[in-house]
Amino acid sequence: MRMQDLVDISRRFGADPDYVVAGGGNTSWKDGNVLYVKGSGTSLAEIGVDGFVRMDRKALAAIWSNRYPEEEDARESAVLADLMTARMSGEENKRPSVETLLHDILPFTLVVHTHPALVNGLTCSAQGERAMIDLFGEEALWIPLTNPGYILAVVVKDAMEKYRKRTGKACQIIFLQNHGIFVASDAPSGINALYSRVMKKIRTKVTREADFSSVQSSFGESEAFGAALRVLAAAYSGSPAYSVFRRDTETAKLVADEAAFAPVSSAYTPDHIVYSGSDPLFVEEPAALPAAWKAFTEGKKRAPKLVALRGTGAFGLGGTEKAAQLAVELFMDSAKVAAFTEPFGGPRFMTAEGIAFINNWEVERYRSKIST
Ligand SMILES: [Zn+2]
Repeated sequence: MRMQDLVDISRRFGADPDYVVAGGGNTSWKDGNVLYVKGSGTSLAEIGVDGFVRMDRKALAAIWSNRYPEEEDARESAVLADLMTARMSGEENKRPSVETLLHDILPFTLVVHTHPALVNGLTCSAQGERAMIDLFGEEALWIPLTNPGYILAVVVKDAMEKYRKRTGKACQIIFLQNHGIFVASDAPSGINALYSRVMKKIRTKVTREADFSSVQSSFGESEAFGAALRVLAAAYSGSPAYSVFRRDTETAKLVADEAAFAPVSSAYTPDHIVYSGSDPLFVEEPAALPAAWKAFTEGKKRAPKLVALRGTGAFGLGGTEKAAQLAVELFMDSAKVAAFTEPFGGPRFMTAEGIAFINNWEVERYRSKIST
């Protein structure tokens, strides 16, 4: 395997919307003592050789003998500093993926980590773990909801060691609850085979897919829509702001009333929080928006990234057009995930604690700034 194989497989997965939304996911290749891992803020679909950060694997291994503070912020910044030190010379202006340590401990040369909606139908559902065991048995590992970064690497390392004791081999498929999947192999063909196996197996259980077909409506003249847009514009006045509107069969069904909105009313994964917010604002009618907006922004000290208007549709909001577009894209991904959870006992969102961690996480703030 050569560096170009890493670039090729990264682009192929990155360009496939069934696997990657909004530049999420990351890949790596181990070449002797060097780990090439995707840099933070780089999109897999367009990645080239320069998009990877060369990491010294001896320095990464040394991180495991360090002791870090218990407190989250202090711990994550100390680990980040050590990760930065583990970059090879010439890589000083790059920032390795937050999952670098996890990539490094998987004992295969090639690792492709993605967040497919189909896989997340399993990882974000009430009975996901049981369904995973039924489908994959000992072929895969299930990692319960864990904060990303250092702690996730610790939990996976421990689970991999137990797996090896139990089965005598290393695990190549790792499901992360409310996050996505890691697949590892020594060759691109192995990654492809494992991924298609995983996707096919989960697909056999799917009962319904989100339907994004367009809906017939008189919506151009819709008074509700016009009124909502004016209120949103007023709320955002003074700062450069963009809104992207979404209405289709699935969205219309979800915004029919607050009960129908429940399957997309919170966050499934960290990416959903970063791009679409952890708490979409649902309003009954445009007239209710000013008060709801005020309560939201005063209570949470930030603006909503997604506003759903009953009977009308969803608005993605952001300081740039791209940010507003991403808010809508991740909302649609939530709708996909929600439909895929149906055979597995329905939605299971991230916990309030998990959501708070991401909302506060410096690394994610950095990523959101870079890619939007
Ligand atoms: Zn991830």
